[in-house]
Amino acid sequence: MFGLNISTTHSLLRALTLSAHGALDRVEYRTDVPAPEPGPGECRVRVLAAALNHLDLFVVSGLPGVTITPPWVLGADAVGIREDTGERVVINPGISDGTCEYCRRGEQSLCVRFRLLGEHLPGTIAEYVVVPTHNVLPIPDTVPITEAAAFTLATLTAWRMIVTRANVRPDDDVLIQGIGGGVALAALQICKHIGAHVWVTSTSDAKLERARALGADETINSRTTDVAREIRARTNKRGVDVVVDSVGQATWDASLGALAKGGRLVTCGATTGPMVATDERKLFWNQWSILGSTMGNDAEFASVVAELSNGNLYPPIDSTFDITDGRAAFERLAGAEQFGKIVIRVAEQ
Ligand SMILES: [Zn+2]
Repeated sequence: MFGLNISTTHSLLRALTLSAHGALDRVEYRTDVPAPEPGPGECRVRVLAAALNHLDLFVVSGLPGVTITPPWVLGADAVGIREDTGERVVINPGISDGTCEYCRRGEQSLCVRFRLLGEHLPGTIAEYVVVPTHNVLPIPDTVPITEAAAFTLATLTAWRMIVTRANVRPDDDVLIQGIGGGVALAALQICKHIGAHVWVTSTSDAKLERARALGADETINSRTTDVAREIRARTNKRGVDVVVDSVGQATWDASLGALAKGGRLVTCGATTGPMVATDERKLFWNQWSILGSTMGNDAEFASVVAELSNGNLYPPIDSTFDITDGRAAFERLAGAEQFGKIVIRVAEQ
């Protein structure tokens, strides 16, 4: 009876929504979004806080083949209370079907019907979100709400890139292009835990300084310096073993130009544009590996949540906004001035 009352009370939700694809003025705070109901194998999470990813900007402007029904709830990352167990949980926003050949071998982010919260399914910046039960994992109360909200997508993506795909070792030199975004900062932290020697680039000296405080060994301003040439100069012409590049078009040439013989370039995105040209002779002669990566599988989700729970990996936080001011959070992200994650408080404080 009591449960029924709670459900009725929350039949309309506060949420940050999209009225139509377009510019950021289509991002709207609303108080009349219908509450989602869990089906078999699903649970409902009362969201405490959510966080933004670059992906959310692509959702606003519109992605090929993706249609939305307004008011569309935005957001992929969140922390909240799982209603049926009362546990504090973080959410893995990658939803897999569990039945295809890739899911059956445990590679959920290769699922042929892979979907994302906020992109293909209603998102997390709302009082309630419904997800499959295997997409949530409990975390201890010792983890701050803000860090938990901002953790999953960026850290999971970086973990698969660094640990699984590029297989970074303690004696590797790793270049991370464009430090400041969530994936790049998570990659920096993971590489330092492994013990690698980490190089970072940015067009901002302030961001480079902050990255150094987080453990970056070498910093290069890519606005004032030729990154590949500088790395060759500082490594006796050798180059680095691994490049982590989610910038795309703007950094591709410098990334390959910095790569040592036998090096690995791993990419999870292309925020400055997706079309790149490569001299194939350099690719085979230097025996480079170009590795694509996207999000992570269930085992990797469990690995990163364990690191969050024991305090080894906390995402740097740029700023926190209330859900009523959610459009300002999107504007902050679009301005690319942030260092770390942008968090949105959802539950009333
Ligand atoms: Zn599948």
